[in-house]
Amino acid sequence: MSDPKTELVVVYNICLVCEQQKPSGMQLGTSFICETCEREIVQTEIDDAAYLFYVKKLRNLSILGANGSGG
Ligand SMILES: [Zn+2]
Repeated sequence: MSDPKTELVVVYNICLVCEQQKPSGMQLGTSFICETCEREIVQTEIDDAAYLFYVKKLRNLSILGANGSGG
């Protein structure tokens, strides 16, 4: 009897916004936003200063990827 050794590797995504490892959320290209932050973004009003914070974070998405090198 031989059963294949399957490594159970649980890879949590690291949230772009809160930079915490979260099991669930939404994938944005190569980046990930956890459910908590996603809700925060949705609930945040555009006039809110926090919204700008999120937008800046999200804008990094398009900047990343084009340049492979980073400091
Ligand atoms: Zn998050």
